[in-house]
Amino acid sequence: MSGLTLFAADEAAMLEFGARLAELTAGRGVIYLLGDLGMGKTTLSRGIIRGLGHVGAVKSPTFTLVEPYELGETQAFHFDLYRLADPEELEFLGIRDYFDGDALCLIEWPQRGAGILPKADLTITISPHDGGGRSLHLTAQGQRGEAWCVALAG
Ligand code: ADP
Ligand code: MG
Repeated sequence: MSGLTLFAADEAAMLEFGARLAELTAGRGVIYLLGDLGMGKTTLSRGIIRGLGHVGAVKSPTFTLVEPYELGETQAFHFDLYRLADPEELEFLGIRDYFDGDALCLIEWPQRGAGILPKADLTITISPHDGGGRSLHLTAQGQRGEAWCVALAG
């Protein structure tokens, strides 16, 4: 399987999909989130992070670039690189620390970090769906992402 397209009718469906995906990841891996402003990348991240047991707010890391979440057995790092001027800035954020371990990294606007970010296990591209809601196109970049897609397609 190389790709999978799913539909999320509303915000609740997006959060629910996030929870399903969270369970599959068990809090480990790298997910790129593509799509224009307002497509639901942060909403989906919120669903994933809450699905891993975080209770409380999941705010957009637009100004902080990254927000960490302690999840007991694992950690999640939620990036929004929209405001990143130069991928080299990621070095100053201590990017190695985020990607060295066994955490889950959710990355909005990964294009801004090209050349510095590690490769994704899964890329999710969110686009408007005719008649409302969102289309989610998933592409796996390796075995781990492939296994998630197979499970989600079933
Ligand atoms: P982004 O991080 O991509 O800029 P946000 O997650 O901040 O986008 O979401 C923008 C808006 O889209 C929010 O008002 C949210 O409720 C809405 N939204 C999220 N998912 C869906 C969906 N599947 N269908 C319709 N609206 C959605
Ligand atoms: Mg966002």
